[in-house]
Amino acid sequence: MSIDRRTFNEDLGLRSGAVCLLPVMNSGKGNGAVNSRYSGKGLQLSFEAYELHLNHVFTIASYSRTSTPVMLVKIEWDGLVGYGEASMPPYLGESHETARKFLKGLDLNQFSDPFRLSEILTYVDSVAKGNCAAKASIDIALHDLLGKILDKPWFKIWGYNPEDTPLTTFTIGIDSPDVVMEKVKEAAPYKILKVKIGKDTDEEIINTIRKITDVPLCVDVNQGWTDKREALDKIHWLKEQGVVFVEQPMDKCNLDDMAWLTQHSPLPTIADEAIQRLDDVSKLHGAYSGINIKLMKCTGMHEAHKMLNVARSLDMKVMIGCMTETSCGVSAAAQLSPMVDWADLDGNLLISNDPFKGVEIVNGKVVLKNSPGIGVMKI
Ligand code: MG
Repeated sequence: MSIDRRTFNEDLGLRSGAVCLLPVMNSGKGNGAVNSRYSGKGLQLSFEAYELHLNHVFTIASYSRTSTPVMLVKIEWDGLVGYGEASMPPYLGESHETARKFLKGLDLNQFSDPFRLSEILTYVDSVAKGNCAAKASIDIALHDLLGKILDKPWFKIWGYNPEDTPLTTFTIGIDSPDVVMEKVKEAAPYKILKVKIGKDTDEEIINTIRKITDVPLCVDVNQGWTDKREALDKIHWLKEQGVVFVEQPMDKCNLDDMAWLTQHSPLPTIADEAIQRLDDVSKLHGAYSGINIKLMKCTGMHEAHKMLNVARSLDMKVMIGCMTETSCGVSAAAQLSPMVDWADLDGNLLISNDPFKGVEIVNGKVVLKNSPGIGVMKI
């Protein structure tokens, strides 16, 4: 069986002539080594439910929680293992039960060539609507597997420079001034903080943080503001406090008010709840300055890479974010980070029982290792 290089190249979203993995695949280490692995056996999927414990009660404008259900996924093929993860905060509607049902319904064994990435993921997406995090778990595990077969990390396959990774934000949830102060002190290694606001304590929280640190802040309103003129007044005040962008200030469905706000705002506005998958990107052009891409919303790395390219073509800002996740999901997202304006990749830092070791944050900056796939090890 031979690899259809043109198809795989298109699967990766690489334009013809772009820096890509073809030279590697055609080298002695590449093509021959890859072909020799073809055993004719199908992909073997397995998964286990896991509960992430959060270091702090996590509160945003609409709810609080202390844990997050995830599904840990493995795809095995010819002696290699790709790791994936579905993180399912309850407000997104997925759960251990829905993920188990979705994953049990998949027949990945029918695919004996893991390089048919687009074909496999199109099949996975077609099995049922929704289930975006469960779909992402398959996508991530497949990418990890392919990277291991090629012996290359994905940032390298995509042609990105690991030195271009951004600082990552560290999230401070809505809380009492005492707890906010404690969290900000814990966040001392981080060079930019993401502050959850959107209740009636916005000024109190920002003022509390500014007593301790003068690092740049970004704010995530989680749709908490309802009046566009009040929102604009708040954004002007936030800019004076050293805030650099505002995430999801108003209701995700309210595109008219958002377009007005973005047009008048002295700070970039970033869509989060309003953006989910590739088709949404162009619809938000003009209503927001940029988008927050999360693998668990958009079904994984394959679609996230396409979203990044579409947003760039529309001159929109791009942020890569995450849920509370293990280092598996965060390390997968981090592969895209050299190409984004901001990273919010602290999901693994907010939990106490991470079963993986992967991407690291050094002096507040995402550090990508030259490890194949998504660069994670099971602890
Ligand atoms: Mg957000």
